[in-house]
Amino acid sequence: EINLNLNVRGLSQSATLAINEASRELAAAGREVYRLGLGQSPFPVPQVVTQALRDHAHEKDYLPVKGLKELRETVADYHRRAEGIDADADRILIGPGSKELMFIVQLTYYGDLVIPTPSWVSYAPQAHIIGRQIRWVPTRAENDWRLMPEELDRVCRNDPTRPRIIILNYPSNPTGDTYTLEELKELAEVARKYRVVLLSDEIYGELHHQGEHVSIARYYPEGTIISSGLSKWCGAGGWRLGTFCFPRSLRWLQDAMAVVASETFTSTSSPIQFAAIRAFQGGPEIEQYLRECRYMLSLVGRHLWRALSETGLSVTPPAGGFYLFPDFSPLRARLAERGIHDSETLCKRLLAESGVALLPGRAFGRPPEELTTRLAYVDFDGAAALAAAPDLLAGR
Ligand code: PLP
Repeated sequence: EINLNLNVRGLSQSATLAINEASRELAAAGREVYRLGLGQSPFPVPQVVTQALRDHAHEKDYLPVKGLKELRETVADYHRRAEGIDADADRILIGPGSKELMFIVQLTYYGDLVIPTPSWVSYAPQAHIIGRQIRWVPTRAENDWRLMPEELDRVCRNDPTRPRIIILNYPSNPTGDTYTLEELKELAEVARKYRVVLLSDEIYGELHHQGEHVSIARYYPEGTIISSGLSKWCGAGGWRLGTFCFPRSLRWLQDAMAVVASETFTSTSSPIQFAAIRAFQGGPEIEQYLRECRYMLSLVGRHLWRALSETGLSVTPPAGGFYLFPDFSPLRARLAERGIHDSETLCKRLLAESGVALLPGRAFGRPPEELTTRLAYVDFDGAAALAAAPDLLAGR
């Protein structure tokens, strides 16, 4: 313990794992548990993609550090098709999950990291491990937790030439919300004004179930890195394959990241890279699969959202991915009578008393005294049961 690197001292395993552990214990004790804590795709990998994996199970050699050329070409085509942006194989980097690529970009880039909150649980711990300074930008409930262009401007204005990476994640984990085209354009303008690097985490882009996903790279192509991968839209989180698509101007950053990759993970699993070619090629089977995923997520998400809103919680309607971010503050007085004053106690008590597993807003960078929570509607039975009995949350 004494010889622990200062940067990792004080870090603990994520809140997601703790809640998961506790819900497993309850379920083992015979209690009914609504597993709405862990954000894992509820869908199987498309059959054509698992077949491609089987066909390439014999691939055993190390592949090029930036990724298999054919895969990089396919991913570039995919971005041209899906987001209408200019891309080619040389601008793609493949890694063992987008999380690893995010870690390496933070390690490699010199500058501040700007994180709007609420935001995904791992951005900040990665910054701590590396010793990178974080500039938090709290967003507001009345803006549906979206980062407003003037908020971004305020962060950059003080020291306009300081190098910065700004993380933008949409559809968002934890809110399930996304940006309008107008907002993306305005954010892009601010990003251009200060020449920031935008790390656009679009891992849920294909699961935008209330409309079409558009990348901010369309409006700020010269400074946007698009992060994606197989984990969510292809249901293959455990396969570990992530992709970064770089603008031409950040070739130096991509090359430096490839050096770090070559000295750490070497290359991404070979059979998975071959299977990923099939996934990113798209075609009728994949389109059908995605249509069905979006349809189910839209039904479950909206059903649950309506039920939770009717119980008096404040919650933004879902747009994509599989999350809702219910805010219990309208019930604050009633919860206070029961000794609940913060999001962690709220989640612990919900699990113990109603068997509903949610994650506390605190894990997503929100102040502890706030009563925000994240709900992942990936357990369809649990979501349906909760929608039928939303009073479980109101504690009546
Ligand atoms: N970004 C967000 C917002 C996520 O929710 C996740 C996974 O939970 C990731 C990135 C990491 O995904 P990957 O499996 O590609 O590492």
